[in-house]
Amino acid sequence: MKITYDFAVIGAGVFGAWTAYLLRRSGASVVLLDSHGAASSRASSGGETRVIRMGYGPDELYTRWSIQSLPAWGEFEARCGTRIFHRTGVLWLGHDSDPYTAGLWEVMQRHGVDCEKLSAEDVRKRYPQMTFPDITWAVLEPQSGLLMARRSVQLLVHEAIKSGVTFQQVAAFAPQTPGGANSARSAFLKTGTGETISAGNLIYACGPWLPRLFPQLLGDRIFPTRQEIFFLGPPAGGLDYQPPRMPVWLHHTHAERPYALPDIEGRGFKIAFDRHGPEFDPETGSRVVEESSVVVLREYLATHMPGLAQAPILESRVCQYENTWNGDFLIDRHPDYDNVWIVGGGSGHGFKHGPAVGEYVCARVLRDAPAEPRFSLASKQSMRARAVF
Ligand SMILES: Cc1cc2nc3c(=O)[nH]c(=O)nc-3n(C[C@H](O)[C@H](O)[C@H](O)COP(=O)(O)OP(=O)(O)OC[C@H]3O[C@@H](n4cnc5c(N)ncnc54)[C@H](O)[C@@H]3O)c2cc1C
Repeated sequence: MKITYDFAVIGAGVFGAWTAYLLRRSGASVVLLDSHGAASSRASSGGETRVIRMGYGPDELYTRWSIQSLPAWGEFEARCGTRIFHRTGVLWLGHDSDPYTAGLWEVMQRHGVDCEKLSAEDVRKRYPQMTFPDITWAVLEPQSGLLMARRSVQLLVHEAIKSGVTFQQVAAFAPQTPGGANSARSAFLKTGTGETISAGNLIYACGPWLPRLFPQLLGDRIFPTRQEIFFLGPPAGGLDYQPPRMPVWLHHTHAERPYALPDIEGRGFKIAFDRHGPEFDPETGSRVVEESSVVVLREYLATHMPGLAQAPILESRVCQYENTWNGDFLIDRHPDYDNVWIVGGGSGHGFKHGPAVGEYVCARVLRDAPAEPRFSLASKQSMRARAVF
């Protein structure tokens, strides 16, 4: 059957869900496809929670996008009437020779972000359950916090469907052209069930699957890496590990780049290491954490969070980052087709920016708005030199 839509969005993670939702709100007809359903356990957006913070070191672009996205999440929360944001505060743990903390302080000041400078002594007094011997100062973002990730994406898709988006749980193939590969500039879509979908534009928001779909173009430009997460059980009555006594915190000056989210909705205290893990296949990779990671975790806790050093692991997860070479997103037209777009490269920090990504894609595809050079395919290299954190 041949159906015509203005847009086919492939991938119902946070990038595809916001894009489909906003395209529909602008009046376009949209079909949204996902092989495993919205924010499934394989998807990068399928986790329990994600941090939303304004600080990006000296990087203005993502600070601006966070500033743009936070109220959009709030508006969506009000519209759907379900809690998706917890204003826990976000604490950056820095030291004097760390340009990242100095940079984020300066950029947030310049952009009028509510933030507070704390001394190491302030941190010790305010958060006695944590010990950070290496820090000399910290920055608190009191208005930032965390998003309920899977819940918010599934709600977005639900709202999108209510507003007229067609959703199908089906796998899509790479773009097809009538005479075979690359024989025309305008592509259509074929699904795993043999259906042909014609749409004015095809938007591939397939996160870590993008290199599988476009191996020649993206095989060496997006690198999915295996990332492990732990949820620890605080002691009975453990208010020290919940807001308001515990914010989200990022110990980015430590070699493993640990970060933690307080115990929310009884799930446990969440902790992970932001350094990149080994390469990972989002479709077939095993989601069982390594025993060696538990050893590293316990060592870290013993020094920095002694009250949880022996806390039981309530839950663990393996997810994947979909990294570009430096951490900048990839949002650009496919070079071989006029009507195919690629939206991805969230690189371990994309979730919070879902609304800004959706708005940017809409502006590009609906109004031919100027492109941000940092998101271009041409800017993507095959070496790895992470620069966006
Ligand atoms: C452990 C971890 C912690 C993170 N922490 C944070 C954080 O604190 N803050 C933050 O802002 N970001 C964070 N991120 C990053 C953020 O979660 C991702 O950048 C973001 O979720 C990527 O969303 P996406 O929509 O691009 O991809 P995904 O969520 O992976 O969605 C892609 C979708 O495409 C579908 N798909 C793939 N191929 C096909 C096909 N052929 N046909 C149909 N459907 C297809 C998949 O099923 C999937 O649902 C974290 C990521 C991880 C893994």
